[in-house]
Amino acid sequence: MENRINISQTGLFRIQRYSIHDGPGIRTTLFFQGCPLSCQWCHNPESHEKPPRMDSKNLDKIADFLIKEIQKDRIFHDESGGGVTFSGGEPLYQPQLLLKLLDLCSQKQIHTCFDTSGYGDTSVLLTAAEKTDLILYDIKFMDDKTHKKYTGQSNTLILDNLKQLSKKRTAVTLRFPFIPQITDLNDNIGSIIAFIKENTIYRNINILPFHKTGESKYKSLDMKNYLQDIKEPSKEQVAMVKEKFESYGLDVDIGG
Ligand code: SF4
Repeated sequence: MENRINISQTGLFRIQRYSIHDGPGIRTTLFFQGCPLSCQWCHNPESHEKPPRMDSKNLDKIADFLIKEIQKDRIFHDESGGGVTFSGGEPLYQPQLLLKLLDLCSQKQIHTCFDTSGYGDTSVLLTAAEKTDLILYDIKFMDDKTHKKYTGQSNTLILDNLKQLSKKRTAVTLRFPFIPQITDLNDNIGSIIAFIKENTIYRNINILPFHKTGESKYKSLDMKNYLQDIKEPSKEQVAMVKEKFESYGLDVDIGG
């Protein structure tokens, strides 16, 4: 059966090995198909399509297959303090698969994290939080109308879910996508800092500077690229955003 499984049957659209931008150390990143958001800067637009319905009878076989794929990189994980990252798309969108993989990784003592928009069922998120070592949690806009405009969804659930994680003292690294002229306007950054400090225990954030590596995908998928005229930020612009977060006492890293 193992040899007959291909990636399109697994609920993923890609497995990336030797990743150094998706959590600590060298990581194997599993990209989940499907996302309830449609961020205009998304560099994985191929993830937006819903995943195929997975027959629950196949879940065990698929999870075993994926764990074997992850374990091929074990030596790199162990030597670098890395592990596996579940990304997407939105991992919370396929809760059965995510929770199963987190359980299996835990049994095999593989370090786990998952990258989420926070837009997911609260009980699934809190269950996954108990099973993982770390969550990478995106925070984009504080103004709800702006959030809807650029991502297609409200931020209410996302902000509420973050507060819940903070109450449980879950290990979280926040991530801020820096999209010039969009996420840095109207004192969005100041509002994000105020929210984090008032409502959470988290004081570390990674800035993810906009990049155009996904641009060709929009053409090949025949999707509208709303940000084709936006330029990647300069080092100086990134440094200014970093200083702003730091001036309010946050620990800041650039990139994953
Ligand atoms: S949440 Fe992530 S995967 Fe989903 S649309 Fe936004 S950037 Fe893309």
